[in-house]
Amino acid sequence: MKIVVLGAGVIGVTTAYHLLRDGHEVTLIDRQPGPGLETSFANGGQVSASHATPWSNPSAPRQFLSWLGRADAPLAIHFGTDPALWRFLFRFLANCRAGPSKANAAMVLRLALYNRGLLADIRAQTGVEFAAEDRGILHLYRSEREMRRAMDAADHLRREGLEIEDLNAAACVALEPALEPRRSTLVGGLFSPGDLSGDAHAFTHGLAQYCADAGVQFELENPITRLAHSGGRITGVMTERGVITAERYVLALGSYSPLMLEPLGIRIPIYPAKGYSATVPIANAKGAPRISVTDDQHKIVIARLGDKLRIAGTAEFDGYNTDLDPRRARAALDAGAALFPDAMDLEGAEFWAGLRPLTPDGVPVIGRTPFSNLILNTGHGTLGWTLACASGRIAADLATDREPEHDISGLGMERF
Ligand SMILES: Cc1cc2nc3c(=O)[nH]c(=O)nc-3n(C[C@H](O)[C@H](O)[C@H](O)COP(=O)(O)OP(=O)(O)OC[C@H]3O[C@@H](n4cnc5c(N)ncnc54)[C@H](O)[C@@H]3O)c2cc1C
Repeated sequence: MKIVVLGAGVIGVTTAYHLLRDGHEVTLIDRQPGPGLETSFANGGQVSASHATPWSNPSAPRQFLSWLGRADAPLAIHFGTDPALWRFLFRFLANCRAGPSKANAAMVLRLALYNRGLLADIRAQTGVEFAAEDRGILHLYRSEREMRRAMDAADHLRREGLEIEDLNAAACVALEPALEPRRSTLVGGLFSPGDLSGDAHAFTHGLAQYCADAGVQFELENPITRLAHSGGRITGVMTERGVITAERYVLALGSYSPLMLEPLGIRIPIYPAKGYSATVPIANAKGAPRISVTDDQHKIVIARLGDKLRIAGTAEFDGYNTDLDPRRARAALDAGAALFPDAMDLEGAEFWAGLRPLTPDGVPVIGRTPFSNLILNTGHGTLGWTLACASGRIAADLATDREPEHDISGLGMERF
């Protein structure tokens, strides 16, 4: 079957890979000159089932209020007149209640656990290299209160099938010796041994190359302007270089998905949540972590990518503005440097900003649409790298009328 995938981020490329393996004729369209150059470019690098608890959780409203007005806070909301932002925030608040938040966490966790086996298969089948560190992920806490709250959330994930260990400060340092200089500031941690880290862009690029070598067509530097439709079916993708047609279409345009869907009468509440990262050369290998770390107090993640460290975090709600605010970018870097002093050559830091395609419930949107030949694979928010292989598998199944082996209830757009 001829299938077009719209968007060559990590989500579009993994979808194309699964379709290729199933024997289909695949075309990928993207406006960038290469795959993975927007949000999938310099993210936190964590493939982390242990991050399944969504941002919309019971402690979020209190925490968000405490950050308002602080220039270096992990969160900034540019309250303006954008009705989409207000609609998003109301829905976000509704999902902060304990019941929905737990259900959403369980759904994301199941998808992340499904992802693990599929990512392992892709690595074995393609040999794609992405500076992977298969060492687990360590979440660090500096106050008893935060640690207790995290242990409660972890208990829920454990009951849903995640292996996660409670550690005291000494055990955290034993696991990751680069934490030794900060031992006295730590209360403890949670360690998820089945998680890993690696470079999402290298993965996306490498997998895209594999797909191209095996016959997937890439239409790069080709902005999509709209989707043409007739009689309840998509009839073509209108691009700046002409119309591209297929039997089936999978839309994986990240934060830009709602803009393409709105003219079709499909409204999905995805809002862009800007985040920052700094990629810094390692100056002292002994002082740099090998295990990917999450610093709960500063809301940053740190991953070792070969001879560099990636530090990522912060959330800024400012529409589609991708400008880099140097204070916020610097705040994330400083928090990372404080945790691993002398590990990095700070002068060599490269800063980046990207837009997480966030849904109010923290669950991606994977499923069918009112158009019989259009499938959605979008809205992966903070966890697109963690969920890409599973989401791509499910979208490929739906696009080709196969029953997904994973339970997809709750993932589709009908929940809105
Ligand atoms: C700071 C930060 C840290 C993060 N850390 C992590 C992490 O540690 N782990 C994790 O799992 N996730 C993380 N994420 C989230 C993750 O990066 C995203 O969920 C993921 O990259 C989304 O992938 P995507 O393919 O949906 O979107 P994208 O990568 O943005 O891909 C969408 C593609 O669509 C194309 N496109 C859009 N509109 C058009 C158009 N009109 N015409 C043609 N092409 C178009 C774009 O060019 C782009 O290539 C982080 C995100 C940020 C910002």
